[in-house]
Amino acid sequence: MKGNKISAIILVICSLSIAFLAGKEFVKNREPEIIVKGKGVTEVKMLSDFFEGVKGTNADTEVYILQGKEKGGTALVLGATHGNEPSGLMGAILLIEKAEVEKGTLYVIPRTNNSGLTHNDPQEGSPQRFHIKTKNGERWFRYGSRATNPLDQWPDPDVYIHASSGQSLSGNETRNINRAYPGRADGTFTEKAAYGITELIKKNNINMTIDLHEASPEYPVINAMVAHDKAMEIASTAVMNLEFENISIGLEPSPVSLRGLTHRELGDFTNTYAILMETANPSQGRLRGKTDEKLVLTGIDPTYVKAQKLGRLFVPFDEKGHSLEERVGRHIAGITALINAMGELETEKAMVIKNVPSSLEIKQNGIGYYLNEIK
Ligand SMILES: [Zn+2]
Repeated sequence: MKGNKISAIILVICSLSIAFLAGKEFVKNREPEIIVKGKGVTEVKMLSDFFEGVKGTNADTEVYILQGKEKGGTALVLGATHGNEPSGLMGAILLIEKAEVEKGTLYVIPRTNNSGLTHNDPQEGSPQRFHIKTKNGERWFRYGSRATNPLDQWPDPDVYIHASSGQSLSGNETRNINRAYPGRADGTFTEKAAYGITELIKKNNINMTIDLHEASPEYPVINAMVAHDKAMEIASTAVMNLEFENISIGLEPSPVSLRGLTHRELGDFTNTYAILMETANPSQGRLRGKTDEKLVLTGIDPTYVKAQKLGRLFVPFDEKGHSLEERVGRHIAGITALINAMGELETEKAMVIKNVPSSLEIKQNGIGYYLNEIK
């Protein structure tokens, strides 16, 4: 009897310690990474300034505004729609910290689904943070989840029905902001966040919206832009100009039957040119090997080299992998090309943005070279 009691006490202590350590790690993801706004940022607003309904919730998120002295076009860049796709978060942060707008206005939301960055996906083995070396020491950023944190929205229904189309998807997609557009003012947490973005676009007459994503190397739509019908001419001009810079990027029309996504709904429900971009992220792929911070940063994975040899992938994949620098460089080059193409085709929507590095410069110097010092 005495022995049983001692074992029970030991077991209770062990489980409490595990719960404490796991809880501590979970809470760690709620602390946001620091973003040091650059000289180009003229104002920082919150999503709740455009839609009250997200005020005081985890869906409220920073909107960085870079307004040029001269009037011109307006563009919105969405980072971290999906928290497990780090090139989008880092591409947006690079713009906030470095870009300077001379003509037109650039809006950047680095944490589009802010809640998705406060946790990561169970059983995926994803790191919670990744670190980037800068001239002034190391900085860390979160590796989050594709979906809203269940603490903010729970439980999931068996079937998720997209409000404006009636399309049904698997229940867990109810927490995917990129299935929730155009959103609903009185909807779920995720629908409200999407509604806030739609309101921002309408209220500020945003000419172009670029949503930054990543996908696993075995996913068919990769290293690509997906453009709404109305944005097709701009996107094809941009893709052609990127070819001259030796950046090969595919172009897909936004499927009419796939609902809730930025490139479909924002194009249908607002006047914005809606485009989504994808880069290849092995750390979210199903065929990946060891999952750690190194994989997020280097994109080097021998199992993907093997998969490439077996003809299973939609992107070239060799021993050099696809580094975060390369992926952020592709996003930045894509944004630059799209904004330039809009100005070429419609002069009244022209924008001039300075101090944005080229994809080659980002690859050579690293992302950290373009990040500011935390003071
Ligand atoms: Zn995504």
